Amino acid sequence: MFHGEIHQNVRQYINGRWETSATTGVSTNPSDTSEVVAEYARADRRQTDAAIRAASDAFPHWSHSTPQRRADVLDRIGAELLARKDELGLLLAREEGKVLPEAVAEVARAGQVFKFFAGEAFRGGAGAGGGESLASARAGVQVDVTREPLGVVGLIAPWNAPFAVPAWKIAPALAHGNSVVFKPAERVPACGWALAEIISRAALPAGVFNLVMGSGREVGQALVDSPHVDALSFTGSAAVGERVLRGATARRARVQLEMGGKNALVVLADADLERAVDCAVQGAYFSAGQRCTASSRLIVEAAVHDAFVARLRERLKALRVGHALERGVEIGPVADAERLAGHLAWVDIARTEGAEHVWGGEALERATAGHYMSPALFLAEPGHRIAREEIFGPLACVLRATDYEHALALCNDTPFGLCAGICTNSLKHAMHFRRHAEVGMTMVNLPTAGVDFHVPFGGRKGSGYGPREQGRHAAEFYTQVKTGYMLA
Ligand code: NAD
Repeated sequence: MFHGEIHQNVRQYINGRWETSATTGVSTNPSDTSEVVAEYARADRRQTDAAIRAASDAFPHWSHSTPQRRADVLDRIGAELLARKDELGLLLAREEGKVLPEAVAEVARAGQVFKFFAGEAFRGGAGAGGGESLASARAGVQVDVTREPLGVVGLIAPWNAPFAVPAWKIAPALAHGNSVVFKPAERVPACGWALAEIISRAALPAGVFNLVMGSGREVGQALVDSPHVDALSFTGSAAVGERVLRGATARRARVQLEMGGKNALVVLADADLERAVDCAVQGAYFSAGQRCTASSRLIVEAAVHDAFVARLRERLKALRVGHALERGVEIGPVADAERLAGHLAWVDIARTEGAEHVWGGEALERATAGHYMSPALFLAEPGHRIAREEIFGPLACVLRATDYEHALALCNDTPFGLCAGICTNSLKHAMHFRRHAEVGMTMVNLPTAGVDFHVPFGGRKGSGYGPREQGRHAAEFYTQVKTGYMLA
């Protein structure tokens, strides 16, 4: 099987220079654990502090740069990502385990995000002349409301979307005139480095963008604790998000959290069943279920419950699980051995708590030693742990609903609130669902996973905290408002 180049230059980028670290680590291919993808430098607290200092020193100058300057930088990064999407998609598929077409699409999306924010630098971001001009309550006084950059932002990313998530944090941060310290997840250092390498050649002043790779406990925590980091944008698990929230708010730093989900796809009796099964397969199992937007709860109206489960079972039987680079494979491996063991433990938990096994949930052997698992489906009760906790793997459950109202109640009966979908031909129910699902994003007759790059992304309840990411709304996090009064 294909073994690509080992990336050995994967180092920190601090104050415009590439730096090694005292310790190193390796990342391996989850489709073939005999393949080392990268040997990378692991930063410590000292290097993280140096990156924060560099970002802090670079901020005053960058924060007053023209929109044209920022747009040019972002456009250049976006253009290179788009031009190299196949090559970088290959790296992503090797390091993270997404199947190649999904990986290429993710890199392209990261490119589109940078392109979008190149325009956003002009369209009313900080320093771009946007804002409001209002009449004052007092005669002869003029009032302006403008947006300004925040300062140094610490960006902490998860492993499951190692180009897209960093892109939708870095691009708005830079577009709005902030300086950046970016910490990728340790599972995917080569992806973080490849993105940083492109950014390093985009004519940014030294220190405006910095990369530090290392553990969450040391590097991530240093960003959370530093009094010189003005804002933190975190995407990851609810448990770590809680820690970041506590640390950041204790020192009154601005914080934005995007966390896990237990997203529901509701299937009503009047739905196009084939489409509903498609939505379930894509939403729950593609990317091996390792998506915050995965529909791990399939809530199905009783009248079509058995037919839906039978059709879904047939589709799961036919799904091809294998090496992420193999043509025709639909689901790659899960991220690592620990997660595979965790998912298999969830299968045991499901059986023990009495959920009815429909299909899958077994470790699979393939030609290469990877972390493969067959997509698992159970019939569950609302109180079962598999119906309540995020698993973040290829395991979904079906919950039976008596009617639409019951389905909606089940959908909202969760501590999470990222996204929810409904498959129905009833306009009345679709409209009601869009209004009453307690989530940040709703989908009608579409999979829960799969979103655009130019509109807000994020969740409510336990899934999110603070303003949304992406699109024009990103300005709400990456800028601060100033009100200016003038005697006219
Ligand atoms: P994780 O919480 O383990 O790690 C996320 C990041 O936090 C990593 O970079 C990690 O090194 C860092 N970190 C760990 N400890 C830290 C600490 N004490 N201080 C600061 N940073 C620390 O999550 P993960 O396993 O990388 O990602 C999977 C999770 O991410 C899932 O729960 C998934 O739902 C969520 N996710 C959410 C979204 C979203 O937008 N809502 C998108 C993708 C993934």
